[in-house]
Amino acid sequence: MIQNHPEKLHDSKRIEKAIELAKKAHEGQFRKTGEPYIVHPLAVKKILEEWGMDEDTIIAGILHDTVEDTPLTLEEIKKEFGESVAFLVDGVTKLSTARNGMRDIDTYLPATRDNFLRLMIALGDDIRVLIIKLADRLHNLRTLSALPPDKQKKVAKETLEVFAPLADRLNMGLLRVELADLSFKYVDPRRYEELKNLLEKYNKSAAKSLQKIEEEITESLKKEKIKFEISGRVKSVYSLHKKLAKHNQNMGEIYDLIALRIIVEDITSCYLVLGLIHSLYTPMNGRIKDYIAMPKQNGYQSLHTTVITKDKRIIEFQIRTKEMHEYAERGLAASFYYNEQKLTENYKKGKIEHLPTNLLWITELQMTAARLREGKKVDLKKLKINLFADKIFVYTPKGDIIDLPNGALPLDFAYKLHSEIGDHVVGVKINGKMSNLNKKLEQGDVVEILTSKNQTPKSSWLDKIFTPHAREKLTRALRLLNHSEPKRLKKRKQKK
Ligand code: MN
Repeated sequence: MIQNHPEKLHDSKRIEKAIELAKKAHEGQFRKTGEPYIVHPLAVKKILEEWGMDEDTIIAGILHDTVEDTPLTLEEIKKEFGESVAFLVDGVTKLSTARNGMRDIDTYLPATRDNFLRLMIALGDDIRVLIIKLADRLHNLRTLSALPPDKQKKVAKETLEVFAPLADRLNMGLLRVELADLSFKYVDPRRYEELKNLLEKYNKSAAKSLQKIEEEITESLKKEKIKFEISGRVKSVYSLHKKLAKHNQNMGEIYDLIALRIIVEDITSCYLVLGLIHSLYTPMNGRIKDYIAMPKQNGYQSLHTTVITKDKRIIEFQIRTKEMHEYAERGLAASFYYNEQKLTENYKKGKIEHLPTNLLWITELQMTAARLREGKKVDLKKLKINLFADKIFVYTPKGDIIDLPNGALPLDFAYKLHSEIGDHVVGVKINGKMSNLNKKLEQGDVVEILTSKNQTPKSSWLDKIFTPHAREKLTRALRLLNHSEPKRLKKRKQKK
């Protein structure tokens, strides 16, 4: 068995004091679920403990909503719990207010339209702020059913677009899966159920042959005296949804519906196991990935191979050490656990932390934040932070974040909001100025779509669209509109 983290011993007196203070501060406040408000900060505390976070982070988690929503001040928190806790609470507060207009961080950040980048830099010097925010979001999602349906969708969509990818960038695999699947259930309940059933059926039908494979592997590895653990992993609903979209809904092209994970003691054993698997089953061409020698950008390490078994099943194997496994599931939080001592000391000394993993972008954010506070000039454009490869984040005038692929145009934005909006576009304002539909959107743009009830979709718009999603919506609308002349439409599309 892989050992869970031993229950960590915290200074229970400090934590108890924080709980008492939070209880008093939130007295008389209630959650949408009808429960007393304190239930929420306590749930956040529990999540942070499960992630193995340090005491200051846990205390800040307990107090994370007090400064924004109660009379308690930052000064009082600083007096009671010290600089570090106050800094974290302040960061979480700024993060939530920053999301509603991005005003607070203006104090030390130069003007840039890239709000998302500014946001990341503002909290970059202590990534624990982000971890508290993720725990906060996780509990809010777990209790999302208490909110009205339109709010549910909004929170769930934002989670899919911002927080789940962030969890992925921090290599917090378990969190990413939970955030994504919880959200997807609200964003597209029908599709969620459909895919969930499909996965269950598939796993059921594969259960017998999986068991046989496990037995074969076990026998072979025992012969070689390799210590190991083997377990099946179920693909998450949302990742299946995304993969199907990438492969034109063709299930036959999804090779990792079933995966078996083999966890061994050291790196040499990983490669040994890979060889043994290939001697038992036929590996598929081009499907062997060595993420041990070449880790993913988020630090993920493992060997992957897809094989065809004797009964013609396609199965993916993931082979890794215990440490790699721990890191794949808990990511940044796992590094904090192992490096807490060092980190805490360095924070006390005010040193910038160089993370033990290859999460270099975090170090870069930390250094940038420090430079900005010292009043030094920073060229934000030169930052090599590629948090979300090929993605841009733009904003509605109300401040909602919409993610689009790099290269997206105003109509893509409009159709992403709603097909009703897309179908009736008459113009677009970008950052408050009238613009045209050919204008490529840029990171951080504030996009306002102007619509008119009398407008109808135009076939000329097909040239002003970048995303397959918008193209599909527009094509459908055009077909409905001119279903008497489908041939003309078809020709036009081919010409493109
Ligand atoms: Mn909260």
